Amino acid sequence: MSRFLSPRFAALKQYVPGEQPQNRSFIKLNTNESPYPPSPEVVAAICRGEVEKLRLYSDPQCRVLRQTLAAHYGVEPENVIVGNGSDEILSFIFMAFCDSERGVAFPDISYGFYPVYADLYGLDRREIPLREDFSLCAEDYCGINRTIVFANPNAPTGLAISPDEVERIVKSNPDNVVAVDEAYVDFGGESCVSLTKTYDNLLVVQTFSKSRSLAGARLGYAIGSDELIADLERLRNSTNPYNVNRLTLIAGQRAVESQSYYYENCAKTAQTRDKTAESLRALGFSCTDSKANFIFAEHSKLSGIELYSGLRERGILVRHFNKPRIDNHVRITVGTSEQMEALVAAIKEML
Ligand code: PMP
Repeated sequence: MSRFLSPRFAALKQYVPGEQPQNRSFIKLNTNESPYPPSPEVVAAICRGEVEKLRLYSDPQCRVLRQTLAAHYGVEPENVIVGNGSDEILSFIFMAFCDSERGVAFPDISYGFYPVYADLYGLDRREIPLREDFSLCAEDYCGINRTIVFANPNAPTGLAISPDEVERIVKSNPDNVVAVDEAYVDFGGESCVSLTKTYDNLLVVQTFSKSRSLAGARLGYAIGSDELIADLERLRNSTNPYNVNRLTLIAGQRAVESQSYYYENCAKTAQTRDKTAESLRALGFSCTDSKANFIFAEHSKLSGIELYSGLRERGILVRHFNKPRIDNHVRITVGTSEQMEALVAAIKEML
């Protein structure tokens, strides 16, 4: 740390992303990317002509993409904001709807960026424990008079709550924003986008990084009432109005238009997930009932760190979180069925 850094950031714990190895080829099951490429329409759209247009700024209002997303979800473009990954959208949400008076609440075990944003913006954060079995208890979030953020399905557990339970939370906090992070919803969760038409305090956040195979393009979005989206736009325009680059805008639009291609990929991923979890259970693992594109598993004879290290030695990267309650687990992204067969074979060898 230099002597110039503002003291308010001196204790800030940075978010640590999963490893992105650049020099050795691993079977990469550690950051929940899709094993399948973007759709052929996306690949074709990123052509020389578009690359040459990079001398021009991107559309600061992201009009075509917002219209495409709005039509897809049956809302208006004014109900959609797009950002540089859903991480950026989440950052705007923490920045916009929390302050020293109004704190934020999220589950104790969830996406690791939530506490980082809370600390970055100097917020009072309440981490609400998940139940013993890692399920989220909606009751714990009812009428708590804070901004609320949770992932549904949750990460790294993969467990989801129903739209009815989300609605209970939203209804019981009419004066606070509830942001539902649906990064993994396309793999088996139920989306709450339609509830945004009824509740002006609900924001649904989604991403192109997982089900739409565009993690490297950095594209996320939120859907909500005109007012909430206008608030987020105010911050976006005060931070970086060209936050989504030209190529990503095109890729995103084409991806939304290739719905059936991604739908099939998600179905394949869900099938591979359930089959792999079954194989792991047969080997003595306990796995949560994941609705996401990852498996959250623990074994009675191998600790989380042993699993992580043993698999790494065998050329397979998974995610281990050195965190109370979950340090004996690993999170395994669902890859192709061949990759998952290699994973199961490696684990058999270790056992
Ligand atoms: N939310 C959750 C729950 C996630 O796991 C991730 C992926 N790390 C994100 C949001 C952010 O994804 P992205 O910024 O790639 O859209």
